[in-house]
Amino acid sequence: MPELPEVETVRRHLKVNIIGKTIKSVDILYDKIIRDIDPEDFAHTLVNQTFLDIKRKGKYLLFILTDLILVSHLRMEGKYFLKRTEPATKHEHIIFNFTDGTSLRYHDVRKFGTMNLFRTKDIKSVLNKPPLNKVGFDPFEKSLSAKEVYERFQRITKPIKSTLLDQSIISGLGNIYVDEVCYLAKIHPETSTKQLSFEQVSVLLDYAKEVLTKAIALGGTTIKSFSSHEISGRFQNELLVHTKEHCPNCKQKITKIRINGRSTYFCENCQLIKAGKERK
Ligand SMILES: [Zn+2]
Repeated sequence: MPELPEVETVRRHLKVNIIGKTIKSVDILYDKIIRDIDPEDFAHTLVNQTFLDIKRKGKYLLFILTDLILVSHLRMEGKYFLKRTEPATKHEHIIFNFTDGTSLRYHDVRKFGTMNLFRTKDIKSVLNKPPLNKVGFDPFEKSLSAKEVYERFQRITKPIKSTLLDQSIISGLGNIYVDEVCYLAKIHPETSTKQLSFEQVSVLLDYAKEVLTKAIALGGTTIKSFSSHEISGRFQNELLVHTKEHCPNCKQKITKIRINGRSTYFCENCQLIKAGKERK
């Protein structure tokens, strides 16, 4: 599943390639991707709209057009490709044909991706409506305060790993990144969320930003066969704990367990805090 760094990489890549392009027509080859609007209406409304900007909230892309905002989620396997006018391939479901003879293709093998269209240019109003109103804190949000997150965490008894993966609490941290963040913060992934001190929450958030910034700079990871316009992520070469055999810090064998069905890697020696135990 594309995680925040991959989605941010897609955003940056698309921003360079489609800003200023105007839609001539839209071909819809699989209409279940389009939500809350009649597909014919969707296609018709987008004609003559120009891509002005692309923003991101968690793992959602927000395409800012002349009079509209298009919200896209790649879910499991969604990708965008910029092509000319060649025929659609099997997994291309939505094609935005531009007036300059190029086209933007939404490609999705699993067909789980979604697109919502809003007839407004007001980003704030779109952020307050489904699906974006259910997206949690973005680690890069300037207004995000550790105090606010700590207070929220005080009411959560599930393991910190599950909390960090819960997109309605913090958006954009996927499985690989959560393992890396817990490792850097020296927090055992099974630690009950409410047990974390304010200082630990602050440290976790700092590492979340650091790990994501680094992953974005390196183009994300490609462990789950994801690539944005065939850019392969180099972040997997930088992983410290996820999929690793030995701890880079103490050299002890890395432990692999499952938390909520997600494979979880951690060092039992360095990530101690669990069930009331204090960090060494
Ligand atoms: Zn260790």
